[in-house]
Amino acid sequence: MAIERIDPKLCNGCGICVNSCMLDVIRMDEENEKATIRYPEDCMMCYFCEQDCPEDAITISEAKNSPLVVSWG
Ligand code: SF4
Ligand code: SF4
Repeated sequence: MAIERIDPKLCNGCGICVNSCMLDVIRMDEENEKATIRYPEDCMMCYFCEQDCPEDAITISEAKNSPLVVSWG
Protein backbone atom coordinates (compact mmCIF):
# COMPACT_ATOMS: atom_id res chain seq x y z
CA MET A 1 0.00 0.00 0.00
CA ALA A 2 1.58 3.25 -1.08
CA ILE A 3 -0.81 5.68 -2.69
CA GLU A 4 -2.01 7.78 0.20
CA ARG A 5 -4.24 10.58 -0.99
CA ILE A 6 -5.86 12.30 -3.93
CA ASP A 7 -6.66 15.87 -2.99
CA PRO A 8 -10.23 16.55 -4.17
CA LYS A 9 -9.59 20.29 -4.11
CA LEU A 10 -6.74 19.94 -6.62
CA CYS A 11 -8.18 17.14 -8.78
CA ASN A 12 -9.78 18.49 -11.97
CA GLY A 13 -11.35 15.17 -12.95
CA CYS A 14 -9.26 14.72 -16.10
CA GLY A 15 -8.95 10.96 -15.55
CA ILE A 16 -5.30 10.75 -16.61
CA CYS A 17 -4.30 8.92 -13.42
CA VAL A 18 -6.96 6.26 -14.01
CA ASN A 19 -5.31 5.45 -17.33
CA SER A 20 -1.81 5.71 -15.87
CA CYS A 21 -2.42 3.04 -13.26
CA MET A 22 -2.03 -0.40 -14.79
CA LEU A 23 -3.21 -2.02 -11.57
CA ASP A 24 -6.60 -0.30 -11.49
CA VAL A 25 -5.99 1.27 -8.09
CA ILE A 26 -7.67 4.53 -9.08
CA ARG A 27 -11.18 5.00 -10.42
CA MET A 28 -13.32 7.99 -11.21
CA ASP A 29 -16.01 8.77 -8.67
CA GLU A 30 -19.18 9.04 -10.74
CA GLU A 31 -20.87 11.39 -8.28
CA ASN A 32 -18.29 14.13 -7.82
CA GLU A 33 -16.29 13.41 -11.01
CA LYS A 34 -12.99 13.26 -9.14
CA ALA A 35 -10.41 10.51 -9.02
CA THR A 36 -10.67 8.25 -6.00
CA ILE A 37 -8.44 5.54 -4.52
CA ARG A 38 -10.37 2.30 -4.90
CA TYR A 39 -7.89 -0.53 -4.30
CA PRO A 40 -4.93 0.94 -2.35
CA GLU A 41 -3.65 -2.50 -1.37
CA ASP A 42 -2.82 -3.19 -5.03
CA CYS A 43 -0.56 -0.13 -5.42
CA MET A 44 3.01 -1.10 -6.29
CA MET A 45 4.40 2.42 -5.94
CA CYS A 46 5.37 2.93 -9.56
CA TYR A 47 4.69 6.70 -9.27
CA PHE A 48 3.14 6.86 -12.78
CA CYS A 49 -0.08 8.42 -11.50
CA GLU A 50 1.75 11.02 -9.45
CA GLN A 51 4.03 11.93 -12.34
CA ASP A 52 1.18 12.15 -14.84
CA CYS A 53 -1.22 14.23 -12.73
CA PRO A 54 -1.23 17.78 -14.12
CA GLU A 55 -2.54 19.20 -10.85
CA ASP A 56 -0.12 17.52 -8.41
CA ALA A 57 -3.12 16.13 -6.57
CA ILE A 58 -1.73 12.67 -5.79
CA THR A 59 0.39 11.83 -2.76
CA ILE A 60 2.43 8.62 -2.70
CA SER A 61 3.79 7.64 0.69
CA GLU A 62 7.01 5.66 0.83
CA ALA A 63 6.63 5.30 4.59
CA LYS A 64 3.70 2.97 4.19
CA ASN A 65 5.87 0.38 2.47
CA SER A 66 8.70 0.45 5.02
CA PRO A 67 7.45 -2.32 7.34
CA LEU A 68 7.18 -4.68 4.38
CA VAL A 69 10.72 -3.91 3.23
CA VAL A 70 12.08 -4.36 6.75
CA SER A 71 10.35 -7.69 7.19
CA TRP A 72 11.95 -8.98 4.01
CA GLY A 73 15.39 -7.69 5.01
S1 SF4 B 1 -4.62 12.98 -13.01
FE1 SF4 B 1 -4.78 14.34 -11.20
S2 SF4 B 1 -6.26 15.90 -11.82
FE2 SF4 B 1 -6.49 14.20 -13.27
S3 SF4 B 1 -8.13 12.90 -12.38
FE3 SF4 B 1 -6.16 12.13 -11.61
S4 SF4 B 1 -5.84 13.15 -9.62
FE4 SF4 B 1 -7.41 14.31 -10.75
S1 SF4 C 1 1.74 4.52 -7.84
FE1 SF4 C 1 1.44 3.21 -9.66
S2 SF4 C 1 0.33 1.41 -8.89
FE2 SF4 C 1 0.16 3.01 -7.33
S3 SF4 C 1 -1.78 4.02 -7.79
FE3 SF4 C 1 -0.16 5.17 -8.84
S4 SF4 C 1 -0.05 4.31 -10.92
FE4 SF4 C 1 -1.19 2.88 -9.61
